[in-house]
Amino acid sequence: MRNFGYTVAGSPAEAVRIAAGTPNSTYVAGGTDLLNLMRDGAEAHDHLVDVNRLDLDRIAVDGQVLRIGALARMRQVAEHPWVRREFPVLSQALLASASPQVRTMAAIGGNLLQRTRCGYFRDTGSACNKRVPGSECPAITGHNRGHAILGGSDHCIATHPSDLAVALTALDATVHLLGPGGGRAVPIAEFYLLPGSTPDRETALRPGELITKVDVPRTPFATKSRYLKLRDRATFEFAVVSVAAALRTSGRVVRDVRLAFGGIGTRPWRDSRVEAALRGRPLTEATIAEAGRILVRDADPREENRFKVELVQRALASILSELGGVR
Ligand code: SF4
Repeated sequence: MRNFGYTVAGSPAEAVRIAAGTPNSTYVAGGTDLLNLMRDGAEAHDHLVDVNRLDLDRIAVDGQVLRIGALARMRQVAEHPWVRREFPVLSQALLASASPQVRTMAAIGGNLLQRTRCGYFRDTGSACNKRVPGSECPAITGHNRGHAILGGSDHCIATHPSDLAVALTALDATVHLLGPGGGRAVPIAEFYLLPGSTPDRETALRPGELITKVDVPRTPFATKSRYLKLRDRATFEFAVVSVAAALRTSGRVVRDVRLAFGGIGTRPWRDSRVEAALRGRPLTEATIAEAGRILVRDADPREENRFKVELVQRALASILSELGGVR
């Protein structure tokens, strides 16, 4: 790890001013991903701005909105009584993430910005367009079992690793940012970018911008929500496939539904066509199967990850059947 400068910021405005004015700087809170990346050489920064002292760690209910400060820790959010009762998918996604120790350290903002687990990205001996733009993507013809079947490009097929981001995508969350030009709010559906020809650009963050909080609207279906994560081992493992689902039914008819997927897309994956195929229709094995087929219609699987095409449809069927009581 190379030397770097370090400043503890006293306010969000000061943090932004330092980060925006210091070349090749970044923010650090829990540091659970960033410090590993810096130690391994996958990221190199000349300056870290420590934001742990900022007053951005509150979890509050404001009318019909859950407001999660960017410095709230994963464990705090997962165990918050209101989150558990009103947004079970959020709590479940967080509890399915990382280890208890990491959940205690890691902040919500950092969780949303964690980098892909693609082995080539984390191995500085390999080429990787995301780490070294223009170098190549060895995953396309190499080891790609954990990679995306949707949203990829000729330049990158890496998945985003955050379970929380998948749950927030299903719930139409909004990410609030503070930058040198002031504050702005970005719907989470627009926060994560497709790789295209610039896989090194992963989010809509502009230089110096800091995540300050995440707002989650309270909806009639959020209380009836679940997170299903399929992984290779029971703890501290990233998703092979995951589904965040929220459902509101009237009798057997789907009144509203939200679905987002992890492990299959280059960003937390949501496809409005899948929800449209279910909305207003009876929740049956046939309608669920049709929604699954629509989900993978544009899939572009690779040699080692073809199994995800069927696995994600089975995961979707499982979670909807459980939520909707389909036998
Ligand atoms: Fe790099 Fe993306 Fe290819 Fe992985 S999939 S090697 S992150 S460019």
